Amino acid sequence: MQTIGLCGGQFFDGTENAPIATDVLLEDGRIAAMGNGVGKEAEVQLDLRGRFFSAGWVDVHTHLFHRPGYLGLSAVPFSLQQGVTYVIDQGSAGADCFASFSQQILKPLPMGHKAFLNCSKIGIPLSSLDGPGELADRANLDEGALLSAYEAQKEEGEVIGLKIRLTPSVCPDNPLGALQTASRWAKDLHLPLEVHPNFAPISTEALLSCLKPGDIYTHTYHPSPVGILDEKGAVKDCVWRAREQGIFFDLAHGVSSLSFPVMEQAFAQGFYPDFISTDLHNGNFCGPVYSLAHTMTKCLAFGLSLPQIIHRVTAAPVHGFGLKDKVVAPSVGDWADFTVFHLENTPQTLSDGRGHTHTAQQQIVVDATFYHQQWYPTHP
Ligand SMILES: [Zn+2]
Repeated sequence: MQTIGLCGGQFFDGTENAPIATDVLLEDGRIAAMGNGVGKEAEVQLDLRGRFFSAGWVDVHTHLFHRPGYLGLSAVPFSLQQGVTYVIDQGSAGADCFASFSQQILKPLPMGHKAFLNCSKIGIPLSSLDGPGELADRANLDEGALLSAYEAQKEEGEVIGLKIRLTPSVCPDNPLGALQTASRWAKDLHLPLEVHPNFAPISTEALLSCLKPGDIYTHTYHPSPVGILDEKGAVKDCVWRAREQGIFFDLAHGVSSLSFPVMEQAFAQGFYPDFISTDLHNGNFCGPVYSLAHTMTKCLAFGLSLPQIIHRVTAAPVHGFGLKDKVVAPSVGDWADFTVFHLENTPQTLSDGRGHTHTAQQQIVVDATFYHQQWYPTHP
């Protein structure tokens, strides 16, 4: 029975409070003790002085369907070995392919996971990166197919929401009609709906009026008329009202869904994302996204504090998405679920993928991830 001590680190508990000094004693993958000095009883002692740790991070917007024809990535190197112990796949699979996605990819994952089911029965095809997407054929919006796919997995509870994308190449005809349909399905199933709005030819107000509390507007800082800012750069009234009503705004970096000028103007008005997420997939893991830590570094560079950032990848997604199988503030008896990281004071040029750059003075760097009985070094 091996014991490991995490000694001398500063622990973020998921609130927006400053971290506190504590040790953790792990025994066979479970927390045997937490408190000052308890790590010294361990056989293997890891010196975390000058480092931070928190509950393992949650990435609420990823794409994991890494099979021919789909745009996903493997979650182990790109998420688990980057500090993320819980992933939510955002609609990579639709009714036609959800069962195989679940069997081949979700169930074998050695980490926490849930999925949103795409309202299009074909899910998100790889071809949608540069060509027509999943709603180019409107017959893919098939209620019968969606209901049977949802029913088939209901007992296991892998699907926790519905997803729809309204970008013109994805949904060329009547995006508002498609959104109203998706919104009705989500209401009937008592599920949140996540909407990818980028460049859809509808107003932000019309889009948000289709959403209910708990629904998610994703790619919050993308620059388009259906975005969160008006022509003068002010956060739109309908956006503030939506937030008050309990509609969530997810960062979801993506290949071209984050604009530094939009994020900067929104942050200056106090409009921060509810969740910080990557939208990692085949088209952006080599940049501009790279990892959740790199996306968090961008938030740090534009003025969010470290406690605010850690909150948005731990407690906020756990409570916002109702993730009952994810611990926020680990305590004695729980499985290990920790991300260890530090701040590196090396200037770095950040890119938003839309032609803007920004120099960060500090970077958030993941050292290791502890999940149940495994200890994962960071993937280079
Ligand atoms: Zn996405």
